[in-house]
Amino acid sequence: MARKSGIRIYRGRIAPSPTGLLHLGHAGTFLTAFERAREHSGFLILRNEDLDVQRCTPEFAAAMIEDLRWLGIRWTEGPNCGGPYGPYTQSERRKFYLEAWKKLREKGFIYPCACSRKEVAQSASAPNDLDDEPVYPGTCRRAENAASWRLPAGVNWRFRVPDGEEVSFLDLHFGPQTLIAGRDFGDFIVWRRDDVPPYQLAVVVDDAAMKITEVVRGADLLKSTARQVLLYRALELEAPEFYHCDLVRDETGKRLAKRHDALSIRRLREMGWTPKRV
Ligand code: GLU
Repeated sequence: MARKSGIRIYRGRIAPSPTGLLHLGHAGTFLTAFERAREHSGFLILRNEDLDVQRCTPEFAAAMIEDLRWLGIRWTEGPNCGGPYGPYTQSERRKFYLEAWKKLREKGFIYPCACSRKEVAQSASAPNDLDDEPVYPGTCRRAENAASWRLPAGVNWRFRVPDGEEVSFLDLHFGPQTLIAGRDFGDFIVWRRDDVPPYQLAVVVDDAAMKITEVVRGADLLKSTARQVLLYRALELEAPEFYHCDLVRDETGKRLAKRHDALSIRRLREMGWTPKRV
């Protein structure tokens, strides 16, 4: 927790990825994050999570900011308004992620993995959660040459999870959570072969660097939180508290995704919806 003379200062954040238009699900999560920051008289940081260069566009980033403003969400730090822990756009923060990769490599937490996505999919046992990646079967786990790499590009780098360990955290909305490493999730990627740091690493580095005290996000990321708890520990960083929000589903029960254009904030706004109705 960020503390000043013993007083806890709440620092929340909203961290959208500009890969499409924001929809009703995002609105619910971000409004919750905004409300919680306000209730705690705290700060709210906007972070542009634009690392996926194939899918993120500046147009979606601009639309995202406009839609958040239209919803009435105001942030105290972030793109266009600065703050002490910037830059707040992930594509400008590569050096911080690289430092974390080096630390993980030096401490022996990660290893280079040459398996293709197809190989992993073929050799892994079927995931019990279809929304999640398959549990990595450990093919490259024994790689002994990790220390010889000065830079990560060229292979995937995986975090060796402590098989069988119960990873627990308290979710402030859903209550205590426990996941088993190696069963519920396997060795996950912390640096991509195409030289892009993935979400799991970037989000931990940034939430710690930006002194976030509470992470508010969708329940689809509950399992990712267990991975991140392991990363906080390995990087010797203090983990924030977590509050996962209920997911918004469409009429067929499917979780809303950016493909649900009809439920995008943009469309609803064009159809005459007010921020209050959203
Ligand atoms: N950029 C992530 C997303 O849009 C945010 C995840 C998070 O809040 O940790 O899903």
